[in-house]
Amino acid sequence: MYLHLYWTHGTPTGSVTMSFPTLDRPQVRSPSVGWTIPCLLLFVACGESSSARPDPPLVEGERLGTAGAHEHGIARLGLAVDGTRLTVDLQLPAESVFGFEHAPRSAEERATVAEAIDRLRTGGARLLAFPDGVTCALDSAEVEAPEGMEDDHAGEDQHAHEDEGTQHEEVHLLASLTCSGEPIGPASLRFADILPDVVQVDLTVFTAAGEAAGRVAPDASFRF
Ligand SMILES: [Zn+2]
Repeated sequence: MYLHLYWTHGTPTGSVTMSFPTLDRPQVRSPSVGWTIPCLLLFVACGESSSARPDPPLVEGERLGTAGAHEHGIARLGLAVDGTRLTVDLQLPAESVFGFEHAPRSAEERATVAEAIDRLRTGGARLLAFPDGVTCALDSAEVEAPEGMEDDHAGEDQHAHEDEGTQHEEVHLLASLTCSGEPIGPASLRFADILPDVVQVDLTVFTAAGEAAGRVAPDASFRF
């Protein structure tokens, strides 16, 4: 009842494998667990699972960008479910958070940075729409911004590396959430409120049943 199509990284044009498994459904397995997941999973489910095993997560998207690549407008989001605990690991260009990538040069830019960092620090749970019936609340969140950007007291003449925007900078959010139940099932991204400048997301989802990854829209649906 399931049609699985999967492409293996390195053979972008060929070898589409279709299978109609009965009991043991194939899972996309990556030889290296982490950010460099060499698989794109395209999964079409038609019907109810008769198995008691939990479904693996599902992300329908394009192939992930290069691990660690700095691409304006592209966020890298890792979501890891461990029971009722959800870890949100988000990394993206400072330009896509603040609108610029240099240390703030004016009171207005300093306010923009402070406000955006605060929005990220408190908004980890609002980046997602969780599976039906599950609510998740932020336990802790840490935002790492480039040195000189997060400093409220940054003056006009400090930070030697505060050059004229020729270097690229990244912002990192690491948030831990506790949910009312295990957050397994259909969910979606909701970047528009918190990070409206993000145009695509390299999403990787980890659960006890497996992992899935893909480059998706900032409001894409996926399944934990
Ligand atoms: Zn940049």
